[in-house]
Amino acid sequence: MAYPLPRSLSPSKVSSFTDCALAFRFSAIDRLPEPPTVAATRGTLVHAALERLHVLDPAERTVDAALGCLDEAAAALRDDPEYAGLDLGDDEAAAFHAEAADLVRNYFRLEDPSTVHAIGLELKVEAEVDGVRLRGIIDRLELDADGELVVTDYKTGSAPSTQHERKRLSGVHIYSLLCEQLLGRRPRIVQLLYLKAPLAITTRPTDRSTRGTRRTLGAVWQAVERACEREDFRPQPSHLCNYCAFQAYCPSFGGDPDEARRLGEVLAAGAADEPSPSLALAATRAP
Ligand code: SF4
Repeated sequence: MAYPLPRSLSPSKVSSFTDCALAFRFSAIDRLPEPPTVAATRGTLVHAALERLHVLDPAERTVDAALGCLDEAAAALRDDPEYAGLDLGDDEAAAFHAEAADLVRNYFRLEDPSTVHAIGLELKVEAEVDGVRLRGIIDRLELDADGELVVTDYKTGSAPSTQHERKRLSGVHIYSLLCEQLLGRRPRIVQLLYLKAPLAITTRPTDRSTRGTRRTLGAVWQAVERACEREDFRPQPSHLCNYCAFQAYCPSFGGDPDEARRLGEVLAAGAADEPSPSLALAATRAP
């Protein structure tokens, strides 16, 4: 029986498929849950703080106000399973918040937030492009001084080397395409703000880059269709395996992908008395 096609593609699904088709299957088709990680949850927290910051009046967007936004966002996150699931001790929790605060302070080294005119924050976007349903969340959509659109994506992980910049920009190019489709205007600028470095990677979408994005999306979608039809999602071992939550089901680590399929079916059927899959997965994480 062929695998069902995923309902849509997003920038993260596109990079997941191109990084490792099997990890994509576990996540997007078997829909196995992934345990929260410190890095991802810190990213969630910092995004929430910057979202709050940009709701304030421009003159109020100071470093102190941003750190206040971080405290509010941390209080809102405290009971969320994503944070609670990390089960941090006191020292770990203090380090978690200190690192998040550093990222928020670094943000001010990249731009002056009082000059930003955001028209959308954490904006959910969805459209069909060339027969492929695309969706995603734009961290910040804004207007520049000339009234042109700018798409900004915050990144809380490490900045890429120069040769990998293009690949990392592919996600924001998809957002540019979505803006063009939904608003009838191509953004003038798309940018990635790497808060850790800190480093801004900025580019201007063009006819050529837009054609390239469409071509890539079409090729990825066709490859996903083929893989579903042939039930052929191959593992692609790389350094990313160290962060992969699905090692227990991966043949490269002695696992059986069919077990993941069965677990996915059980989860989809809503079997309430199955052992917690997230705990099973958590036990398999790389050191
Ligand atoms: S462990 Fe590595 S090869 Fe296996 S599914 Fe995960 S990323 Fe792919």
